[in-house]
Amino acid sequence: MSKQKILIIEDERALQEVLSYNLEREGFEVALASDGQDGLRRLRSFEPDLVLLDLMLPVIDGLEVCRQLRADTKTQGIRVIMLTARSEEVDEIVGFNMGADDYVTKPFKVKPLIHRIKALLRRTGTDRQNRDVISIHGIEIDRVNHTAKARGQLLDLTPTEFRLLWALSRSAGRPFGRNELMDHCRGEDANALERTIDVHVRSLRQKLRDLGDVIETVRGVGYRFRAENEPTPAVTESNEPAE
Ligand code: CA
Repeated sequence: MSKQKILIIEDERALQEVLSYNLEREGFEVALASDGQDGLRRLRSFEPDLVLLDLMLPVIDGLEVCRQLRADTKTQGIRVIMLTARSEEVDEIVGFNMGADDYVTKPFKVKPLIHRIKALLRRTGTDRQNRDVISIHGIEIDRVNHTAKARGQLLDLTPTEFRLLWALSRSAGRPFGRNELMDHCRGEDANALERTIDVHVRSLRQKLRDLGDVIETVRGVGYRFRAENEPTPAVTESNEPAE
């Protein structure tokens, strides 16, 4: 089995060394980058399974690196753990609105971080970027053939709806902001307004019929696809009806 790969994007030398030493000892293949621009370059060449991403970075900051990573179909499936210097910065990432899967506040202990890395890689072991078919809640989405089925019935989706469904379902459980969803849908209508995401989501829910409520509204954030093992919630006022 090939080693799992971790990219560390961090400008503090001492922290780079501590992290890479410990991660290599745990059997990971590690690459380093010291600023955001170099980090983005390494993301594409090294193709890591997970990125440890410092928030405050020279040239391009961590949030922008994360945004670009999520917007690129080649890198959007990579898991991201943010490293933040101050607890106030956490406010910016809370809700994982920025596309991070997890975060730790400096100073942190290495051992618990490694546990979180392993847990995240395990949880998403079948959710790698190379995956071409997602099957969840009776919905099957095939990225190669660009088809989606609900309970075996082919759905007639627009390209934007398809991209929305793909982006949400492949990271089921994670809330997405409207801006982030717009990045995922970009391609044919680059100047889509935030509100149009709501229109696409409403249409997508209608086409999913009784399964429409798997796409939940996250108040103040945007939307999320319900994770596989989550129970169906009682109808709450924050969830629009499916139809
Ligand atoms: Ca830094």
